[in-house]
Amino acid sequence: MEVVIDNLEKELLANGYDLRGIAEKYFFLYENSPDMQVSVDPADATIKNCNQTLVKKVGYSKEEIIGESIFFLYHPDCYSEARKAFRSFVETGRVINMELELRRKDGSKIPVLLDVEAVKDQNGKIICSNSCLRDISDVKRLQKQLMRANRDLENRNEELSQFAYIASHDLQEPLRSIMNFTNLLSKKYGSNASKEEQKSMKFILEASARMSQLIKSLLDHSRLGIHKKRTQIDCNAIMKAVKDDLFSSFSETKVHLEIENLPIIKGHETEFRLLLQNLLSNSLKFRKKGIPLQIRIFAKKKENHWLFGITDNGIGISMNDQKKIFMIFRRLHLTDEFEGTGIGLAHCKKIVALHGGKIWVDSKVDQGSTFCFTIPFQNL
Ligand code: ADP
Repeated sequence: MEVVIDNLEKELLANGYDLRGIAEKYFFLYENSPDMQVSVDPADATIKNCNQTLVKKVGYSKEEIIGESIFFLYHPDCYSEARKAFRSFVETGRVINMELELRRKDGSKIPVLLDVEAVKDQNGKIICSNSCLRDISDVKRLQKQLMRANRDLENRNEELSQFAYIASHDLQEPLRSIMNFTNLLSKKYGSNASKEEQKSMKFILEASARMSQLIKSLLDHSRLGIHKKRTQIDCNAIMKAVKDDLFSSFSETKVHLEIENLPIIKGHETEFRLLLQNLLSNSLKFRKKGIPLQIRIFAKKKENHWLFGITDNGIGISMNDQKKIFMIFRRLHLTDEFEGTGIGLAHCKKIVALHGGKIWVDSKVDQGSTFCFTIPFQNL
């Protein structure tokens, strides 16, 4: 709030206020405020007053501070920013949340957040500043710790991905041997083998093929986002390509596909295409028999992110299962009912997280599902 001081004294007296009491209280609050307070002359940037908190933090006495230029208090590393702050105070009467650094008497830095309000006379002329300097050392320390923790997490994720990659790569080798030798056995003894033995060999081959498929999908999962390059993605173009791939053999009487205008975003193109492809192919796979499939794809601009959605009128998912389906290899159906490995949505979750967003589903059994995900404007 702007402070105008002419007439203030008269008004307070006229209304019966105890000026001395008010001044004492104000003085106490000013001196003991948890923030550093300083008052600056707009004409020559000299310090007219400051509180005890500032004195304690910087290590100079009040006498040493008052009369000096305000720039005396700032660390040389932020002089140009400090000059900007002073100019803003003189020209606009305020500074809001500006990060600067003070210099203690021993030369060390104190990171601060500066807020300035001008004190004006009745003609609107700035008399001095009410400048509040908040010590944000703790915030900065926490920020650093958080950044370090994030870096550690990224390194650990990288190690895990490497592990998954190597493990799945190495697992394929013995599996291939099992399949090759079973094929050999089947060729050599196939006709002489009993029905039971033939069935067993068929099972081994089928199970190995399935395991190979699972390992391959795990390998794909570990490699999502491996190429860190992000580009401009026209989601309309990607959606069109995915739609053409999946729906070219469907007539319009069987599928009503409504695609709203989609945005251009910055991201990992191959992965983003896989995301849309997985969601759309699930809508196709888990459709309800006997009714035309209806799918609507939309994107809405929110405060700091895009909200994407894919709605279908398919078989739906019970409330209980809605979180589970995003886990690796979690499926709700047998393979002969609906084929798949159960990794598609785990891929989707990783891809959305790679872009700094979240994914979830709203669904009712027998009525349909809406898969939603967010992509922040400034994604990671
Ligand atoms: P998959 O399709 O290989 O089974 P996903 O990870 O893509 O694996 O999906 C996991 C499970 O989530 C599916 O098995 C299915 O039960 C459920 N699901 C996914 N998408 C839909 C959908 N659009 N409608 C109904 N159920 C779905």
